Order: sequence, then C-alpha cells, then structure tokens
Amino acid sequence: MRDIANVDLDSDDSGSILESGLCCEWENKDGSGMQTELGEENEEVMSEFYRRNSEPPTDEPVQEQFDFEYPAPRTEGLDHPSMPDATWFTNFLVSFSYTVKFFFARLRHILQLYGWEKCKGNVESEKYKNFVPLFSGPDPLFIRNIYRQGSDVCNRPVASVPGTLMTVRDRFTPDYGWTFEYKGTESRVLNMGSYNYLGFAQNRGPCAEAARRAIDQHGVSACTPSFNFRHNKVHKQLDALIAEYLGVEAAMCFPMGYGTNAMNIPAIVGKGSLILSDQLNHASLVTGCRLSGALVKVFKHNDVNDLERKLIQAIAEGDRTTGRPYKKILIVMEGIYSMEGTISPLPQVVALKKKYKAYLFLDEAHSIGALGETGKGCSEYFGCDPTDIDVMMGTLTKSFAAAGGYLAGTKKLIDAIRTRSHDIHYGTWMAAPVAAQVLSSMHIIMNKDGAGEGKLRIRQLLRNTRYFRRSLAQRGFLLYGHEDSPVVPLMTFFCTRTLIFCRETLRRNLAVVGVCYPATPLTKCRARFCISAAHTKEQLDWVC
Ligand code: PLP
Repeated sequence: MRDIANVDLDSDDSGSILESGLCCEWENKDGSGMQTELGEENEEVMSEFYRRNSEPPTDEPVQEQFDFEYPAPRTEGLDHPSMPDATWFTNFLVSFSYTVKFFFARLRHILQLYGWEKCKGNVESEKYKNFVPLFSGPDPLFIRNIYRQGSDVCNRPVASVPGTLMTVRDRFTPDYGWTFEYKGTESRVLNMGSYNYLGFAQNRGPCAEAARRAIDQHGVSACTPSFNFRHNKVHKQLDALIAEYLGVEAAMCFPMGYGTNAMNIPAIVGKGSLILSDQLNHASLVTGCRLSGALVKVFKHNDVNDLERKLIQAIAEGDRTTGRPYKKILIVMEGIYSMEGTISPLPQVVALKKKYKAYLFLDEAHSIGALGETGKGCSEYFGCDPTDIDVMMGTLTKSFAAAGGYLAGTKKLIDAIRTRSHDIHYGTWMAAPVAAQVLSSMHIIMNKDGAGEGKLRIRQLLRNTRYFRRSLAQRGFLLYGHEDSPVVPLMTFFCTRTLIFCRETLRRNLAVVGVCYPATPLTKCRARFCISAAHTKEQLDWVC
C-alpha cells in the first residue's frame, strides 16, 4: 500500500488507512506528481488493490485486562480548546477556491438561463411562472453547483445495522453527482460516522429481543397522538426510568429528537422572554427558539464571559420593545457539540444562571450515555447537581441506538409541557419497540441486571476516545474538541480536501463523515469521526 502511495508523511511504516486516505493530495516523494493524477485504469486497479488489502478488522471483542478507571468529576470545569488554525495562505486559498466556485456557478446559471448550457436540475417552468420561485436564488445555486459535486460523500446508502462494521451499497456517479448508479455490490466498512456511542446499534442481543417482544405485544405504531389514547405501559415505564436515571423528579419522552427541541421550547418560553443561545447550537434548538416568539440573542460558542455580558445587558436594559424586564431568561446550550467535539462549561454556566436568576436548557443529545462514570451526561462529568439544570433534554438516537428524545426536570415543568406541547397533541406517539429498545439499553447502562456491562461500555468509550485522539494527534493531524469527547473532528480546512478524504477513506473501507461550509465556517471544513465503545483496539489501530 505504501509502495504505491510513496508519500512522505513523517511517520512510521505501519500503513494506516488514514495516511493512505490523505495521500491523494500529497505530492510524491520523488516529485512525480499528485496521486490524483493516476489514469482511470490505474484508479480501478488501485481501487481493487485497496479493497483486497484493507479489510477492516472484525468486531469480535478482544478479551483485555480492564485496568482503566473512570476519572473523577471535573468540578473545576474545562478550558475551551482553541480551534486549530491554518496559515493565512491556506485561509486565502480556501476563500479563493469558493470565490472561483461561486463565479462559475453564477456563470453556468446565466448560460443555462439563455439555454446555452443544459441544466440537469429542476428549473422554474413557464407554466408556474406566477408562483413563488422554487429553484432560483442562492440555495439552489449552491446545491446544483457546489453541493452536487460532493454529493457522493453524503447520503451514503447503508444496507445493515450501523454497528462498528456496516455494509454500504457501492454506487458511482457517471455525471458528477447529478445521478447515481448502483453497481449491485456491497462493501463492508468500518463505521466511524454513526453516533453509536455505547455500541447498542445491534440486531441481536437483549435490546433487539426486547424490541421484538414489544412488536409482538403492541405492534409497530401507536397510530395516534398520546393526547387521544394515553401512552401504554412501555412509555410510562420509560418516562419513570429516564427520571430515575437522571436523578430528577419527572421526565417525558417524545418520538423525535429534533421535534423534542423544535416543538417544546415554545412550550417553555414565549413572547416577552429572552433566549440566550450558544452560537453553534443545533438546528433543532434554533428552530425551537425561533418558533417560541421570544427574543433570541446569540452568545459566542462556550464563552462564559460573553454570556455574562449578555445576561447583565438583558437585566439592565430589559425588553426594549415594552420597556419591561424580561419575563424569563433562558440559556440554551448543548452538552457536547456534534460538529466541534467541544464540551460545554457547565459549572460556570450553572453559577451564572444562579447569579442572574436565569433558567438553563441543556441539550445532552451527544453527552447522555457518553459522559460521566455512569453515563448521566454533563452534570455527572462535572459533578454538578442535576436539579440545577432546569430543563434537561436528550435524544435516544445516539447512546441508546433507538429514536426520539426526552425532556426532564421538575414535575411542575413536565406537567406544564404535557399540557402545552404541540408534539403531544398533534404528533403520533413513540413506537413501542423503540421505547422497548431504550428501556432495555437504559437498564443495562443503569446496571439493573447486575452484570456491570453498562459501566464497562462507558469506560471503554472513554478509553477508545482518548486512545484514538492521542493516536491521531501523534501522527500530526489537527483535531478539535475536548479530549473526552467521542466526537473527533479532524481539520481538513479545504472543502475539496474533505471530499477527497471521505472518498479515499471509503475506498479503503473506512466510513467517516465530511463536514463543510455552510455547516462549518468557510475555512474550517473537517472530517468527523465518532467513537464507539464497540470499536476494538485493532480497529482503531487499523485506522491510525
Ligand atoms: N440535538 C442535537 C444537539 C443534535 O445533535 C441532534 C441530532 O443529531 C438533535 C438534537 C436531533 O436529534 P434526532 O436526530 O434524534 O432527531
């Protein structure tokens, strides 16, 4: 493998997948050009070569001596890591490449308008010319000309459980992303893109069995909102178990994580209130904040000083439109940020919210199950009292490998949400097998069966995370986020490099996710790895 790549990567000769994945953009040692310049035939030979030589190691767990102890809570908080910066020249090149792309996108658009170039995408039709335009404007321009060129890296067709090893269907695009054709073959790849933090994404074992039993008893769908027919036993058990797990009075689950935020923030705050929202909050939180009707102000990502400034300003000035103090001030932030891998500074934020009598909404989508000795998320990781978090939110799609979300807090809060939530009144209830999967995985995490497996998984996740981050850092890759975050962004800066990185790693049977503008700032594109407790050391070594 290294013979062909012949790259100078300043490292030992272990032939890791990542190195060979990146080499397509590196110049050969003898200066004989870039590897991307291989002829089409050679490309095919290489592709076959890698397929045969880079089978990911199996996911058979290796029996190891488990001597890794979970660290004590970080009561003092964490320093915010600085974003790895590229040189000004790289930043210039990245911006320049986007300028060129947009210039040609615009040019092609004009050519297409005059019929000099055929547009394969959707265009406004003469028949509907008096209707609101659907395919004009900057968004379709971006999608047709920029996103399309990298669309093979997105929406990858998966044909198996998203465990550590998964099957993807092979496809290719004969026309630069306008269409895809399936080859009829499949590849077994090492999955480092799914949020399967605790390794519960399985179609065998106790969780899958519980889900099967729930189908036998309750069927697949609730077929009605819970407002019409109150939820059944499984849902009641789940609400109670979530509250018990988190150490709060009450909890309530919802069928969709996105909807939990989008539909329920409006049930908590409204007109006359202020929301202070972290700059990098997830789209579901942004939607919820906007729908609420409250005034939304944004503070810099994880910046407690900026948050305090905004709190002081809000209290001093009040609501300028009415001249009255705000009814409520709600701070909205996440536990672990899914594109950055950063952990929020919970102890400092809790101190601020107490000092200024504000409320805190914490979205633990990526931290529940993944942080803290028993997986209780940020509050356990930092040794905070969970009741200091006014609204605890989490999703059941990640560590619990199911679907849906939950809200937890005081009984008064949950009762209020129960009566006001649009999700409950107008949306169909969580499917019983999904609830059963969560119940079962949560039982394991809480060690209700006495087998101690939950704690082992959580420790293994932290151990894998630290090991993987250190291995990549030792090899000189620029990473972002905190050491204990299982979301590991590897900075590639260029959008094109990110796409090539994702293509080349997939060709070597490694699936990662590429994140580019507009999901990141223009010059901060990255590839993102998600670590799982189910990854074996051999698999992590194979990557690094
Ligand atoms: N909140 C955060 C922070 C997320 O990252 C996500 C999704 O990844 C969601 C909410 C939505 O969750 P779901 O995918 O379960 O709908």
